[in-house]
This record gives sequence, C-alpha cells and structure tokens, in this order.
Amino acid sequence: MPPAAFETTLLIAKPDAVQRGLVGEIVGRLERKGLQLAGMKLVHVPRKLAEQHYAEHAGKGFFDGLIAFFTSAPVVVMAVRGVGSIAVCRTLIGATNGRLAAPGTIRGDLGLSGGHNLIHGSDSPESAERELSLWFDDAELIDYTSSSQGDVYDPS
Ligand code: GDP
Ligand code: MG
Repeated sequence: MPPAAFETTLLIAKPDAVQRGLVGEIVGRLERKGLQLAGMKLVHVPRKLAEQHYAEHAGKGFFDGLIAFFTSAPVVVMAVRGVGSIAVCRTLIGATNGRLAAPGTIRGDLGLSGGHNLIHGSDSPESAERELSLWFDDAELIDYTSSSQGDVYDPS
C-alpha cells in the first residue's frame, strides 16, 4: 500500500451530538487516534448552507427531514488533519445507520438512528476540498506541527 498523504478532512458533530452532550466524546476519539484539530467552531446552520452542504442528496425522500434536522440545533464543525485523515475518519465514524455500524465506531457505539447519526465526515478528497471551503475561511484553519507527531507517525 502506498504511503497515505497528510490531508485535511471536514467533520461535523451534528445537532444530535450537541443535544446529547456527545461532542467531547467524539472529539476525544479523534484526539486519541492521533488526529490534529486545524479548525473548530459552533454553528447554528442557516438553511441555505445546509442545502449546499448536502446538495448531492437534493430530491431524495429524506432530504427535507435531513435539512430540518441539520438546522434544528447548533453543530460543531471541525477541520481535522492527519495522514490519510479522510479515509481514517470515515472508518472511525462507521456506516450511515447506527444500527448497522460496527461496534468501535462512533455511530456503532453511540447511536441507533439512520438519520440522527451524530457526525458527518467528508467521503473523498474532492468532497473534503469542497466542504472545507464551504465551512471555513482560510484564516480559520490553523497550521501548526503537533509535538505528538514523532510518536503518532513513527514508522516502526
Ligand atoms: P454518510 O456519508 O454516511 O453521512 O451518509 P449519506 O451521505 O448517504 O447521507 C447523508 C446523511 O443523510 C446521513 O448521514 C443521514 O443523516 C441522512 N440519511 C442518509 N440516508 C438516509 C435515510 O435513508 N433515511 C434518513 N432518515 N436519513 C438518511
Ligand atoms: Mg455522505
């Protein structure tokens, strides 16, 4: 397997994570994995931004409910950096439906819903780029070298 690139992904702790007090649990899992926060903010999402974020699902049966849910309470938006972070975060998040998501994943451990499934994560480099620019200005993303990198990425 070729070495994965150091990359940035866009994660959102959804309204159910904020309402259920699970933001710390979710952020803790990302930190314990060795991933690095590059941006983070609480946002009560305007409808237009929700529709832009989920544009690929426009017209589907669950779309209106998804937008209503996503705008119902604040979310925590995060830019998360690390080697292979886009795929790594999708693995940590688990399958879309919490009832089917594997134990050990965020959705598998913390929820039972298909719609209120706690967290969004970009699913490809193209979506990460699109979603990061939708949610963050360049100045909101902080570039720094974590002192833990020598241990987190030790090749042995
Ligand atoms: P994800 O990438 O795993 O988040 O899943 P998708 O991109 O397929 O869907 C986006 C979001 O729409 C999901 O995280 C759910 O919140 C919601 N969603 C997707 N499929 C369904 C569905 O069949 N029913 C409902 N109620 N919500 C859904
Ligand atoms: Mg998706």
